[in-house]
Amino acid sequence: MEVTTMSEAMQLHAQALKSGAQPHHQNYSKLFTFCALSPSGDLNYARLILNCLSSPNSYYWNTMIRAYCETSNPNHSISLFLAMHMNQNPGITPKPDKFTYPFVVKVCGRLRDTQLGKQAHCLICKLGFGSDRYICNSLIHMYAKFNDLGCASKVFDKMPERDVVTWTSMIDGLVDNGRAIEAIKLFKEMIESGVEPNDATIVSILRACAETGALEVGRRTHRIVEEQGLSSRTNVGTALIDMYSKCGCIDSARKVFDEVFDKDVCSWTAMIHGLASHGMSREAISSFEEMKNSGVMPDERTMTAVLAACRNAGWVTEAYLYFRDMREKYGIKPNLQHHGCMVDLHARSGKLQEAENFIRKMLIQPDAVLWRTVIWACKIHGDTNRAERLIKEINIDFDDCGSYVLLSNIYASAGKWHDKAICRETMNKHGLVKPPGSSKIEIDGSVHEFTAGDSSHIEAPTIFAKLEEICKSLRGEGYEPELSEVLLEVDDDEKAFQLLHHSEKLAVAFGLMKTKPGSPIRIVKNLRSCEDCHSFMKLISKAYEREIVVRDRIRFHHFRNGDCSCGDYW
Ligand code: ZN
Ligand code: ZN
Repeated sequence: MEVTTMSEAMQLHAQALKSGAQPHHQNYSKLFTFCALSPSGDLNYARLILNCLSSPNSYYWNTMIRAYCETSNPNHSISLFLAMHMNQNPGITPKPDKFTYPFVVKVCGRLRDTQLGKQAHCLICKLGFGSDRYICNSLIHMYAKFNDLGCASKVFDKMPERDVVTWTSMIDGLVDNGRAIEAIKLFKEMIESGVEPNDATIVSILRACAETGALEVGRRTHRIVEEQGLSSRTNVGTALIDMYSKCGCIDSARKVFDEVFDKDVCSWTAMIHGLASHGMSREAISSFEEMKNSGVMPDERTMTAVLAACRNAGWVTEAYLYFRDMREKYGIKPNLQHHGCMVDLHARSGKLQEAENFIRKMLIQPDAVLWRTVIWACKIHGDTNRAERLIKEINIDFDDCGSYVLLSNIYASAGKWHDKAICRETMNKHGLVKPPGSSKIEIDGSVHEFTAGDSSHIEAPTIFAKLEEICKSLRGEGYEPELSEVLLEVDDDEKAFQLLHHSEKLAVAFGLMKTKPGSPIRIVKNLRSCEDCHSFMKLISKAYEREIVVRDRIRFHHFRNGDCSCGDYW
């Protein structure tokens, strides 16, 4: 008899009790497993069964540990494990076995308890389970959760036998810890070693491609998806949509989207978000309407994408309507990102007072990022007084480097050198360093990363020479370096030198060297583009007849024939 409801489980239990069935009787384990693990089971009832059995074997204990691991209080798993480990009731409580440890390790990861996790690992080695594949897989996963990739790779390297879960755990850990380039390398190794990826591996690797702009690897992964018949999985489809749109190929994203059979809120949101970040606001909004018509309700992230679409198009009225609908129609409480879109919408169009008012009337506490949106707009619209007043008033934290860099920029562009110097001094006093800019470019399936002034690349001398050559020819087209972008107190030659070696310029020079004439160049940058790099890219797109696609922290810039799709506002 198959158990599908709690009342069936209880009936079976009653029968078992009446007939005096022993714990190892299959009916017992069947009803116990149902109560403990099924979504329609009852964990407390399972615990009751466990407590009432005279000598339950390790299967019952392990299942109980596994079940508690998924609850909001995974600590119960640890107490059960300790009871087993310390052999509290000799002869009654079973000893932990190799099936116990994967769950224990998983709980340590969930609790983010590094101390406990390391103790568990020690114990595992002492007991001779150190090379058990299932246990090692959970250890890799646990160390990745602790952001300790050193220990994760030690476990990975020592494993005599690796399966798809092993590789996926390691790849996923790398992606989660911002090491997408290594994740891509490991994925290649995995394929070469003959292990077939599953949908979890595919989703991880597509995330890595999206993050680094590795379109070539993304396309190859898409082919694997088709070969292995994983296309019908909605999560894979969503990851493909996200990868293509983040790599700048919105048409391919659309094509995948149209083929996703069972579209859920995640796939719709990925599509709407992609369209919005490419400045295709009209298409984004009509997709949103289509989504609602198909009966899928939006979530928080969908609404962020919808508001971003309105923001990019400057649609104030529509944005207010959607903002209101969030609470009233969909029961979604606007978060900081939603508010940020609204503030940015006002700020962009130069309505700085409205933007300020909007923040002051918010029902949740605004953060530094929101205020910085207004202050950034003050810089663009030349309202230095408001910027200064706001910065003094909001009393930015000393660890908020972004705001200081911004203020310093504002003083520089208003020619207030003395104030700028004070600002720099404050930054130095508190040890604030502007995070280094970094740009990534994929050439033949490998991602190359450049930081500003980076000479670590093997081809650095050639890249620098190429940059000099580009700069010379662009100066002929009227390029004038925007020296005010350099915040350091150095002479103009040094400023021009530093500007020329910004990370995205190194990446674009490398791209021009390594790709065929006429083919597009795609770059992913971690920060907002500076003004100098922005005009540099515009000029290159014209002089070298190349389409250049730059994704910065905020949005996409498609440079074509001397113009940018952002309309010079970013
Ligand atoms: Zn720059
Ligand atoms: Zn642009």
